[in-house]
Amino acid sequence: MAGPDPLGLLRTALLCRCPRCGQASIFTSVLTVRERCPVCELNLAAADTGDGAAAFLILIEGAVLVVLAFYVEFHFNPPLWVHVILWPVLAIPFTILLMRPFKAFLVAQQFRNRPGEMGAE
Ligand SMILES: [Zn+2]
Repeated sequence: MAGPDPLGLLRTALLCRCPRCGQASIFTSVLTVRERCPVCELNLAAADTGDGAAAFLILIEGAVLVVLAFYVEFHFNPPLWVHVILWPVLAIPFTILLMRPFKAFLVAQQFRNRPGEMGAE
């Protein structure tokens, strides 16, 4: 039986916690998901997110940055070097910061929608 989702989907993702118990981190290192939750034994290895988090970030963050780049270009008309410096400086840290929560979000989504695959039914 699936747990009650104690933290809610977004808090679970932002805190990178187990979607069933909300107690333990789902990561053993920067982006490596644990085999099992040390608290509730949820099979986290079954939630294979693959490149899903990276794909979501590329699409969402890329679209936001392109819109911002067009806004800056047409509103301020800066020299080209401003674009060359500004967008990588924004994109790289945001990508690194958002990768873990996005991956945790996908694990929590899989737990919510397909708990049987994670041994929670
Ligand atoms: Zn747990």
